[in-house]
Amino acid sequence: MVDLSQLNPRQKEAAKYVEGPLLVLAGAGSGKTSVITRKIAYLIDACGIKPHHIAAVTFTNKAAREMKERVMSLVGKGGAKGLTVSTFHNLGLNIIRQELETSGYRAGFSILDQDDCKGIIRDVMQRDHGGDDGDMVEMVQNTISNLKNDLITPEQAINQAQSPQEMLIARTYSVYQRMLKAYNAVDFDDLIMVPTLLFMNHSEVLMRWQRKIRYLLVDEYQDTNTSQYELVKLLVGHRSGLTVVGDDDQSIYAWRGARPENLVLLKQDFPSLKVVKLEQNYRSTGLILNAANKVIDNNPHEFEKKLWSDMGYGDPIRILKCKSDEIEAERIASEIVERRLRYGCGYRDFAVLYRGNHQSRAIEMKLQTFQVPYKLNGGQSFFGRNEIKDLMGYLRLLINPSDDAAFLRVINTPRREIGPTTIEKLSEYASMRDTSMLAATTEMGLEQLLSPKSLDRLRRFGHWLENITRNAYTGDPIAAIKELISDIDYEGHLTQTSSSPGQAERRMKNVWFLVDSIQKMITKAEELGDECTIEDAVGKLLLRDMLEQQEQEDELDQVQLMTLHASKGLEFPHVYIMGMEEELMPHRNSIEADTVEEERRLMYVGITRAKRTLTLTYAAKRRQYGESTDTTHSRFLDELPPDDVEWEGKTEISPEAQRQRGQETLSSLKNLLGDF
Ligand code: ATP
Ligand code: MG
Repeated sequence: MVDLSQLNPRQKEAAKYVEGPLLVLAGAGSGKTSVITRKIAYLIDACGIKPHHIAAVTFTNKAAREMKERVMSLVGKGGAKGLTVSTFHNLGLNIIRQELETSGYRAGFSILDQDDCKGIIRDVMQRDHGGDDGDMVEMVQNTISNLKNDLITPEQAINQAQSPQEMLIARTYSVYQRMLKAYNAVDFDDLIMVPTLLFMNHSEVLMRWQRKIRYLLVDEYQDTNTSQYELVKLLVGHRSGLTVVGDDDQSIYAWRGARPENLVLLKQDFPSLKVVKLEQNYRSTGLILNAANKVIDNNPHEFEKKLWSDMGYGDPIRILKCKSDEIEAERIASEIVERRLRYGCGYRDFAVLYRGNHQSRAIEMKLQTFQVPYKLNGGQSFFGRNEIKDLMGYLRLLINPSDDAAFLRVINTPRREIGPTTIEKLSEYASMRDTSMLAATTEMGLEQLLSPKSLDRLRRFGHWLENITRNAYTGDPIAAIKELISDIDYEGHLTQTSSSPGQAERRMKNVWFLVDSIQKMITKAEELGDECTIEDAVGKLLLRDMLEQQEQEDELDQVQLMTLHASKGLEFPHVYIMGMEEELMPHRNSIEADTVEEERRLMYVGITRAKRTLTLTYAAKRRQYGESTDTTHSRFLDELPPDDVEWEGKTEISPEAQRQRGQETLSSLKNLLGDF
C-alpha cells in the first residue's frame, strides 16, 4: 500500500482528495510535484484506478522523466504499466496519432521544427508578399504561434484582422497552414491546437478520450496557454478527476502565450474547486528562501502565499563582482573544482544558470580547461545544427526514399527554385497515388499539374538522387556522399547563408566530421569482419541523434549548465547564477517592453533551485559584438536582504587582487589535493 506518512498534513490532504477538482497553489520547493507523484500512487493503490486511466502532464521532457521515475519507485515498474506521464506536447501527439482519420492527417505525418517552419513561412512571404526580411519572418512566425496558442484558426484571424499588417499575417498563417496539411506535417503548436479543436468539434472522439483518461494531473499549471487549458477542460468535462499544481510566482512563459490567469479561471470553470495551500519549503536553507521571498515581494500579488523552511539559516548568499566575463567564468569553474573537494560532493551537485543560451560558451570553455565534466542542457547539440540536419536529410533519403519529411528538408536546400505551389501539387499527387514525394517526381502524370519548367527541376532532382543512391549501394558509399556534397555545391551554399566566412568554415567542418564518422563506422565494422552498409551507419547515427535528444547522460556526474527557464522544477545543492547585470538579467527586451515582473519571477525560479548555497556573479565589463562595454549590476541584487548577503568586490578590487583570489583558490585546491 502506498505510504503517505512522509507527507505533511496539508500535502496528505491534497494527495487523498478525490471527491472533486483540486488546485494546489504553493511556492517553490513546497512539495507540489511530490504531491502529484504520491497522489498517482494513491490513485492506483488505494482508489483502484488502473494506471492506463491516469495521465500526468508537465512541461519539459526532463521533468516528465523525473516524475515517471519517482512514481515507479513508489509503485514498482509493473504497477505503473500503462500510466501516461508526459509533456503536453507528447500527449497531443498521441491523440493525433490515434485519431488520424478525424484529424485529417495520414500515418507517418512529420513534426517540423522551428527552422523548417521558418523556411516555409519565408517562402510563402516571398511568393505572396515579395519580401522575406529575416526579422519580419521571425515576427510573423511568433505571431502565428501566439494565434495557435490562443486557439485562433486562420479563418478567424482573417476575420478579425484590423490593420494591413494583421491581414498580412493572417493570410500568411492561412497559406502556411494549408502547406503543412499538404506536406502531411504539423508544427509544435499544432500538437496542442489540433487535438483541442478535434475535441471541440467531435464529441464522439472527446468521449472516447474521456473514457480513457479518468484522472488528469497537471504540474506547473501557471505556464499553460489557452489551448492547453481548453484541452484540460475538455478532457475533464464535468467530472471530478483533476488535480493541478502551480505557483503564480513562477510563471515565466507569458512571452510564449502562457496565461497565469488560468489559475483564477479554474475557480470559475470548476465551481466545486478545492484549493490547498502548502507553506513549508523542504528544499532550501532559511537565508536562500528569505532572499527569494524578498525579491518576489517587489511584484504585485494575486494570491497571498507564505513560505518557511526549517532547514537552518545556512550560508549567506554570495555576490561576486568580476572584472570581466572571462574572469567570471574562470572564477565559477575554479570554485566548482575546489568546493567539490571541500564539500566532498559530486559535480552533478552544481548547477550554473544563465539568462540566454549564448552565455554558456564562456563557462564551457573554462570548465573544459579545468577538465570538469559538464552537461549542457537545452543548448544546441551537434545533430541540432542546420548543416547536420541538411546532410542527414539527404542521407535519410538515400536509405529511405519515402521519407517525405527529409524530402521537404532538402528539396530547396540549396535553393532549386522549386516554389511552394509546385511542392503542394507534388504532395497532393503523391498522396493521391499513395506514393512518396521523391518517387512521384519521376512518375509520368505530373505533366497536367505542373509547368514544364517546374516539372523539369523536380525530375532533375529525382533522377540525380536516384543516381547517387545507386552509387552508394553498388560502389563506395563514402565516395557517393562526397559526390553528393560536391554536386549540390554545399560549401557555396554555406558561404551564402552564413554570417561570416569563419562561420561557413566551421559549419563545413561539421559536415566533414559527420562524413568522417560514417567512414569510421564502416571501417571499424569491416575490421571486425562485420558488414556495415550505409543503411546501418545512417541508422546508427539517427539512433544516436534520438538518444541525444532523450538526454541519456542524466545519470553521469557532470556539472549542469542550463538557462534559468530550463531549470524550472529542478533542484541542486549548489547553484551559480551568472551575468547578474542590467540588460542581461533583467533582459533588455523586457526592460524596453516593461515586463520586468516576469524577469523577477525568473529570478525567483533561479534562487529557489538552490538547496544549500547560492552564488550570484556579474562582470564589470562584458564583451559584446567584439567590444568590451561597462555594465551595471542587476537591480535584483539590490532587492536581496542586505544582511544576508556577502557582497565581494562591491568596493573596487584591482584586477591583480582578482587574479590573486583565483590563485588562492587554486593553491588551496592544491593543498586539498595534497591530502588525497
Ligand atoms: P517547484 O515549485 O520548484 O516545482 P515543488 O513544490 O514541486 O517545487 P518538490 O520538488 O515536490 O517541490 O519538493 C521539493 C523538495 O522537498 C524535494 O526534494 C522533495 O523531495 C522534498 N519534500 C517534499 N515534501 C516533503 C516532505 N513532506 N518531507 C520531506 N521532504 C519533502
Ligand atoms: Mg515542482
